[in-house]
Amino acid sequence: MSQDPIRVAGARENNLKHVSVEIPRRELTVFTGVSGSGKSSLVFDTIAAEAQRQLNETFTAFQRTFLPKYGQPAVDSIENLSAAIVVDQKRIGGNSRSTVGTVTDIYALLRLLFSRIGTPHAGESSRFSFNDPAGMCPECEGIGKVITLDLDRFLDRSKSLNEGALLHPQFAVGGWFWGIYANSGLFDNDKKLSDYTEDEWELLLHGSGVKVPLSWQGGQVNSSYEGVVTKFTRLYIKKDTGEMSERNREVFQRFVTSAVCPLCRGARLNQAVLECRIGGRNIAEMAAMEAGDLVGVLAAIDDPVARPIVAGLVERLGNLVAIGLGYLSLDRETATLSGGESQRIKMVRHLGSALIDMLYIFDEPSVGLHPRDVRMLNDLLRKLRDKGNTVLVVEHDRDVIEIADHVVDMGPGAGAHGGEVVYQGPVTGLAESGTLTGTHLRHRLPVKTEVREPTGKMMISDATLHNLRGVTVGIPTGVLTVVTGVAGSGKSTLINEVFLRQHPGAIAIDQSAVGASIRSTPATYTGLMDPVRKLFATANGVSPALFSFNSKGACPECQGLGIVYTDLAFMEGLRSRCEACGGRRFREEVLGHTLRGRSISDVLDMTAAEALEFFAGERKLRPVLQALNDVGLDYLTLGQPLSTLSGGECQRIKLATELHKTGTVYVMDEPTTGLHMSDVGNLLRIIDGLVERGNSVIVIEHDLDVIKNADWIIDLGPEGGAKGGRVLFEGPPARLLTATGSHTAEYVRADVG
Ligand code: ADP
Ligand code: ADP
Ligand code: ZN
Ligand code: ZN
Repeated sequence: MSQDPIRVAGARENNLKHVSVEIPRRELTVFTGVSGSGKSSLVFDTIAAEAQRQLNETFTAFQRTFLPKYGQPAVDSIENLSAAIVVDQKRIGGNSRSTVGTVTDIYALLRLLFSRIGTPHAGESSRFSFNDPAGMCPECEGIGKVITLDLDRFLDRSKSLNEGALLHPQFAVGGWFWGIYANSGLFDNDKKLSDYTEDEWELLLHGSGVKVPLSWQGGQVNSSYEGVVTKFTRLYIKKDTGEMSERNREVFQRFVTSAVCPLCRGARLNQAVLECRIGGRNIAEMAAMEAGDLVGVLAAIDDPVARPIVAGLVERLGNLVAIGLGYLSLDRETATLSGGESQRIKMVRHLGSALIDMLYIFDEPSVGLHPRDVRMLNDLLRKLRDKGNTVLVVEHDRDVIEIADHVVDMGPGAGAHGGEVVYQGPVTGLAESGTLTGTHLRHRLPVKTEVREPTGKMMISDATLHNLRGVTVGIPTGVLTVVTGVAGSGKSTLINEVFLRQHPGAIAIDQSAVGASIRSTPATYTGLMDPVRKLFATANGVSPALFSFNSKGACPECQGLGIVYTDLAFMEGLRSRCEACGGRRFREEVLGHTLRGRSISDVLDMTAAEALEFFAGERKLRPVLQALNDVGLDYLTLGQPLSTLSGGECQRIKLATELHKTGTVYVMDEPTTGLHMSDVGNLLRIIDGLVERGNSVIVIEHDLDVIKNADWIIDLGPEGGAKGGRVLFEGPPARLLTATGSHTAEYVRADVG
């Protein structure tokens, strides 16, 4: 295959200004630049999209009808592309049957090993699969736990059906499900549940068979009666929670309890399979070990029959350890992994692959990684390249940028002020290039010496969740506390789970998606839309409702979406710009009403920075717009669908809506995600502002500049998993410099030289 570089000419997606670049094949290229400069537009929306489209072209027309459609990206040409694999941070998710072992195929190898040399011999390798009826525990069907409807939370026994005894929102009085019980004729709808007879209870919970007449769309339909337990189990418990919306999953979890399966005690397999052992351990016990320990146990197996299988296992588990995930066990459910962990798991899957000359594309793989772990990540990126692949990485982390063979720096600014390549070449030239990235590459903030005095303390006592070893620690109020430690040391467990549970008033500003509907935009989310509509209404003497793309003013063709979706049975639907309104969302007459020469659609096309200028005199709008600019989202347009925002951007838009509060406790998980080095100073100023206004801020962070600017540091470790979970250090950053036995201390010392 040709070693000519990948040539992109005239790329114009989003803000890209006819970008042309050459990307060397079989090398490691890092894409840098401030947030919003156009890195994703170039790498994901142009290069990856075109690779995917070209791949699809190789299928027959018939096969293609079953594949998702990819529109042609806005680019003149791309030459020398190979098949691309995008390793992003989307969580792997999945149901309870999906584990670290199953998605990496390591468990499949382990099954093979047990079927060959386990004693007593239990049969073929499928019998060791908890997803196979021959192997699964009959009680929990291979889930390892039993989930049941929690009747204490689902029912209010002091109430009758008419009074709302069924507490789940889907069973609310007057609703469809409620009707099934209330119209069944089986119950006295005014009788309190606590007065039910034994038979009535049985009917309510487990009854079946009867047809219940319900009115529907003016007519009558017959629905078959099902007791609440049966119905709930069928509708929710048997369903893959990974397919539920975030909201439904939350509701679901409030109404169920989950307990370890009484028969297999969580091992998922049936007794016959569990009796088969290698060196005293059964397969469930091995799957429960940390990968780092398991690799040692397997490497010690000396059996000629098993040698090739053992070698395969050791190599794959070794990759898991090398990427900083040695603290995970194979039986860990993928749904509980963080975005960064999910990305690294996907990476392991590809390292095991024999394919070469692929194009691998990574989105900020350093997320969630301590500087110690970044070193391991770098080794893996190089390994992937050395196997003969072309590796593209979008990154902000200095240590990753520094191992690049080639750098493409985007800028100079964000949004309309970006979209150009400001530097391309070897990393050695970047520092001298004078670009924002270049100048910040060597720029280090000093350790803060004048720290704030805490106003009090919030205690976490004897925390033992996951790997925490009876952690008792005080978190100071009125200051910025940074929680540090290598991946898997217990930071999220301590803060996001234990602390938030023990201190319910604290607010988590996280990276989860914002905006409940596809109509959500920065304007609707931050509350800007209402005052803007009023301004338009007053200026034109019409109703404010006219300027809502959710109601009256909406383009009737696309219902105000600006886009029309064509549903396709088997695949992701097609999206195309609405022809009636040209993507402007509003009816023609609405666009005729203007405010200082701009239509409502023009306003939605403004970036936060432009809007701040345009609405400078508006008391109601100014603070919100200022906040959007302050958090570094100046380049976002007010009408950009929130569904297109990255995790880091979601976190910052949430932050922008919180900036005016006082006396609140905020928790943030890696707020530097997606932020360029030059923006970290800004973020620190915002956080300082929050603290100055009387709030307490707790952040989990790996960025050394943030760590050095803390008032107080809580360092966990020393390692991940069972070798972590202890507090190694608590105190101001200046004292951390002299701490021993802490990876964080070591890296901070190295950073300040
Ligand atoms: P980066 O990856 O460097 O942070 P992006 O490529 O995501 O930058 O964004 C570049 C510009 O394009 C920004 O102004 C951003 O708001 C805009 N943009 C990105 N995605 C979309 C989209 N789906 N629709 C409209 N504008 C977008
Ligand atoms: P950090 O935030 O420092 O990376 P975590 O708090 O995520 O670390 O993890 C600490 C330990 O707890 C790790 O061994 C991890 O595998 C384990 N752990 C985290 N979440 C879960 C979970 N939902 N189920 C089981 N173990 C978990
Ligand atoms: Zn079981
Ligand atoms: Zn339309």
